[in-house]
Amino acid sequence: MSNLSDIGTIKDIMQRHGFSFSKGLGQNFLINPSVCPRMAEQCGADARTGVLEIGPGIGVLTAELARRARKVAAVELDDRLLPVLDETLRDFDNVRVVHGDVMKLDLAALIAECFADCEKVAVCANLPYYITSPVIMMLLESRLPVSAITVMVQKEAADRLCAGVGSRESGAVTVAVHYYAEPELLFKVSRGSFMPSPNVDSAVIRLSVREEPAVDVGDEGVFFGMVRAGFSQRRKTLANSLTSGGFLKREEAARALADAGIPANTRIEALDMGQLANLSRNIVHLRCQ
Ligand code: SAM
Repeated sequence: MSNLSDIGTIKDIMQRHGFSFSKGLGQNFLINPSVCPRMAEQCGADARTGVLEIGPGIGVLTAELARRARKVAAVELDDRLLPVLDETLRDFDNVRVVHGDVMKLDLAALIAECFADCEKVAVCANLPYYITSPVIMMLLESRLPVSAITVMVQKEAADRLCAGVGSRESGAVTVAVHYYAEPELLFKVSRGSFMPSPNVDSAVIRLSVREEPAVDVGDEGVFFGMVRAGFSQRRKTLANSLTSGGFLKREEAARALADAGIPANTRIEALDMGQLANLSRNIVHLRCQ
């Protein structure tokens, strides 16, 4: 089998298949030979596990996953890569390549169909950067039967996703990730590890999906609405950020904050998960009155 992280091999494949990189599809292919084996090891791929990969490219990570996992299902949007993957993955009988947009496919049905004989399911991917957060949020919010999500993302996104809730680096996506999972930064990957080389470094993170959400928020719609309103104007005080976008009336915000014991001039980025959940439950309570 050819070495799919070798630049000469990639160029040969591209030439024979008349393939050129699409920037719009986030096509930066891995050329650092140590990265894919590490990702495959650390994502939990083993003989009991089905692995869902998003964006296999020419199959460099897919092959490492297939060597370890029971089964691999790899979703690729770019139809020009399908004949390439036919060629590069032909030695594996446990890989299924699915043509489609990961944001539009019925992943629950795909998992049920492909991984019926697997004890657990993991996601592993070098994500296209233009949809990093939407993909991660879709995977978490749709409550797929997935135990862990191990993904390569831009370093800045990794820092944001893995930041502590209540820290200055946190954002709405940080809170959402901590609600559904326990995030962890596994290792950094330099920009020179990709072809073409992007302008920024990357990192591999793992989100270990919780069996139950981290906190009781009363109502998820209210909780995430509150988090979005708060972080959309994160430099404002909570009394202002929760009211200026119309999420709460001024007197409701004052009451919910007071009941939660949170000073009205606090910024949302200063609240930990327990305080956010408490505030959300108070808003739910107020709305029921
Ligand atoms: N896994 C390969 C690697 O590590 O070298 C390629 C990773 S590249 C960063 C991202 C891949 O995702 C590309 O193959 C791209 O065509 C594919 N892709 C982009 N948008 C997609 C989408 N919405 N659904 C599925 N695949 C997508």
